[in-house]
Amino acid sequence: MVGGSIAGCAAALAAHRGGAAEVTVFERAPGHLADRGVGLAMHNDRYAELEAAGYVDASMPWLQLGRRCWYVRDGSAPLGRRIGVLPFPFRTYNWGPLWRELRERVPGSAEFRSGTAVTSVEVTPDGVELAMGPDGPGERFDLVIGADGYRSAVRTAACPEVRPRYAGYLAWRGAFAAERLMAPELWPDEDCVYAVFPGGHVIIYRIPDGRGGLRINWVLYTAPPPDLALRFDNPTSLPPGTLAETLHTRLAHIADTRLAPYWGQLVRTTTADELFVQPMYDFTAPHYANGRLVLAGDAATVARPHTGGGAVKALQDATALEKCLTGEPDWRAALSAYDTGRATSGRSMVELGRRLGVGLVEQTPDWSAMDQGGLEKWWQQVDGSGGFGGRRLTS
Ligand SMILES: Cc1cc2nc3c(=O)[nH]c(=O)nc-3n(C[C@H](O)[C@H](O)[C@H](O)COP(=O)(O)OP(=O)(O)OC[C@H]3O[C@@H](n4cnc5c(N)ncnc54)[C@H](O)[C@@H]3O)c2cc1C
Repeated sequence: MVGGSIAGCAAALAAHRGGAAEVTVFERAPGHLADRGVGLAMHNDRYAELEAAGYVDASMPWLQLGRRCWYVRDGSAPLGRRIGVLPFPFRTYNWGPLWRELRERVPGSAEFRSGTAVTSVEVTPDGVELAMGPDGPGERFDLVIGADGYRSAVRTAACPEVRPRYAGYLAWRGAFAAERLMAPELWPDEDCVYAVFPGGHVIIYRIPDGRGGLRINWVLYTAPPPDLALRFDNPTSLPPGTLAETLHTRLAHIADTRLAPYWGQLVRTTTADELFVQPMYDFTAPHYANGRLVLAGDAATVARPHTGGGAVKALQDATALEKCLTGEPDWRAALSAYDTGRATSGRSMVELGRRLGVGLVEQTPDWSAMDQGGLEKWWQQVDGSGGFGGRRLTS
């Protein structure tokens, strides 16, 4: 296994349950993966499937949300005008505690080598050779699962032609302790907020802090300022404390002029060391398995986060892999079945992410004229096949 994050921990469990005699996980980061205290959301139905499959459970701290409230700026009205409300049966998680729980589920018999970056992946006639470091000796494995994220080395070996594609806009992400939120009574805990504006939106919800309290978590999507010197052709992200001044200025401008005062103030409460930027990329590998190389999670497919299904997709890959390894007569048949099932599902999530990106960022509707009926109709058009939150595990 290359990568020991969400997909890597889950796939290590899948390989173990699927009968692998020995499992080794190589994770570049030393020690525990350092989280940024931000969150993710998981659809209740997808959670139930993953719980039944034995990959998640109620001991992972979560917060239940119920609805999505859509707001547009309206003069000085604190929250703006509420356009409408859609159901939002999602649990929210804090990435760090979720990862730590998954890490604990990696069987003790698996060797987890932290602080070990895989530098080359070479397929040989009877296996795959991985090298760690420029001079280190290679090690041979029967199968290699690439759970090494969107810049995957295993994917480069399996599908060299695949390149993540920059979508033309950014996600500013931030989170802070809920005690710092002004007037929390204006915004119920179970509401997820979409504060929309021409050319983008911010999605805001609370997440557990993992210690019994809550954090305020938000992601704001819009195009970068036109005078930004940075280019995003190569996949990258900008960690806290590294943002160019123009990116701070752009965020402050949006918060002050495009969001209603309450949501703008919320974004402004976030400090520079709680703020980072992820340019939006997407891609899908044509195959989830190629010979002895297997892909899982973001290494295989990155769908834009509007789909609300990135972590779910990674966990589903693992459960599907386990099912194929236990249900098929040999490893070749298992990987072929895994490829067929997951490549189709991954592709459909990427397409959904692109459609949602168009509707929510690239070609936004006239929010100021929209009402509840208009919102429902518009959402049906952009979500189309109903994949928001992830596809059913069996499909
Ligand atoms: C530290 C961290 C924090 C994150 N926080 C959030 C969050 O708060 N909210 C959210 O929605 N998503 C977060 N993500 C992303 C999220 O985990 C993924 O988008 C999604 O869940 C799919 O996970 P993944 O395991 O496929 O990919 P990733 O989570 O990107 O994991 C890939 C892993 O592979 C390792 N790796 C890469 N190359 C090599 C190599 N050559 N050798 C060895 N190891 C390698 C990386 O260090 C990383 O741990 C985070 C990812 C990381 C790594």
